[in-house]
Amino acid sequence: MIRLMTNLPEFFGDISEVIRLFLGQVDISLEEGEEIVRHVHSEEDGVWTERFSMDGVQVCHTAQAVHGGLIEKRLLKRAVKTSCFLMMKEKTGMTPPWGSLTGIRPTRILYELLEEGLSEQEAMGAIHDRFYVSPDKATLLRDIIHMQRGLIDAPADEYDLYIGIPFCTTRCAYCSFASGELGSGSLVEPYIEALIREIRESANLMNERGMKIRAAYMGGGTPTALNALQLDRVLSAAQECFPGAREWTVEAGRPDTIDRDKLTVMNEHEITRISVNPQTFSDETLRIIGRAHTSKDTLEAYALAREMGFNHINMDLIAALPGEGMEQFEKTLRTTTDLRPESVTVHTLAIKRSSKLHEQGYTQIGAEAADEMVTFARQTLTEAGYRPYYLYRQKYMAGNLENVGYALPGHACLYNIDNMEETTKILALGAGAITKWLYPRERRIERAPNVRNIEQYIARVSEMVERKRALIDG
Ligand code: SF4
Repeated sequence: MIRLMTNLPEFFGDISEVIRLFLGQVDISLEEGEEIVRHVHSEEDGVWTERFSMDGVQVCHTAQAVHGGLIEKRLLKRAVKTSCFLMMKEKTGMTPPWGSLTGIRPTRILYELLEEGLSEQEAMGAIHDRFYVSPDKATLLRDIIHMQRGLIDAPADEYDLYIGIPFCTTRCAYCSFASGELGSGSLVEPYIEALIREIRESANLMNERGMKIRAAYMGGGTPTALNALQLDRVLSAAQECFPGAREWTVEAGRPDTIDRDKLTVMNEHEITRISVNPQTFSDETLRIIGRAHTSKDTLEAYALAREMGFNHINMDLIAALPGEGMEQFEKTLRTTTDLRPESVTVHTLAIKRSSKLHEQGYTQIGAEAADEMVTFARQTLTEAGYRPYYLYRQKYMAGNLENVGYALPGHACLYNIDNMEETTKILALGAGAITKWLYPRERRIERAPNVRNIEQYIARVSEMVERKRALIDG
């Protein structure tokens, strides 16, 4: 346990995140702990000084003081995190590839530097100089920004639609989503009824305000955990109420939930993009992580979807899965690129506290081994013609790395870009879905979350619509 002694306790969470970049998931407390990290903030003559120390290693870092509102808080947080980062770097001799960045969306930082008027080259230099991001990751961000050109600027009167189906056939060992196992399936029908009600009432909200749909995404959970008739009912209601989306994704996800009837329903609804997610092509790993399918199921589901005419299939993969090394990961990547899906999303395993792997006390592989895997994925996919088009990071990821969506030219998923870059309003329906409303002039995003619990959602669906009304009109 580490004790953090700071005269800015409001930055406890931010400082802890930086310490964990170097030391992994250590416990950190303001009150107790054997090892001590000291931080003293002071200000004199318009200059902030941050002094950090641990085990005899001391770092003193200064920054120009800025006063007033959100910008003060933001820059002070940056100064505190940077000096903590420098102290931990000196103490451990390590430089994490994403430097001092701990946030979910590092692309935002590059966009901000460009908005400051820096050239692309200068912005890449600045992201290294100010945040210690490695040149390799800076190049990755630049490549993503190139792929997002022409896609990222949604007009103010457009929004994306998200529909959540929070059911899965079994629970994956790494899952931290608000999805319930199907079990007896007794909640599915009441859930669909509540969801269709939320779809209809939310569509009225949008229509009354003259808003136009841009992209639609059905995720979860696993939407194809529904049977074909149920899937048809939800898609029929959604497309009747929200016509005209440029793109419609259904995350078919688990190959064992995909069959001809459900693919027929999706074809009839002109779904433009589906996911068939192998995660790995090792059957032994699939068994360990609790996926109730084999790699053969994935190949068959993929072949069936192709046969039925789907021309944009995404495949999700995970690097650093339990028991896997480069050998298994390389096989997964080679098999995937041989299939030639239009897009591939490479996640790095994250073990969140609510996952079974965390409960089982599973320890992640080392940062170097995880980095080798994601670097290999990037090289292999780039050589096969894919380009990175969105990226996000999560807490508790192996090596504090990243998740990257790759696509063949012309196949970037609009919804993924909008959602991850937070450049478009998202109307989100279903249990646990979070509606996000943008106020671009104030650079502000407000959220209206739906309750995660499925029974609560069913009982309180009117309240969920009212939450959205209050958000949009507020
Ligand atoms: S398919 Fe996704 S949502 Fe369902 S249990 Fe696995 S990780 Fe969780």
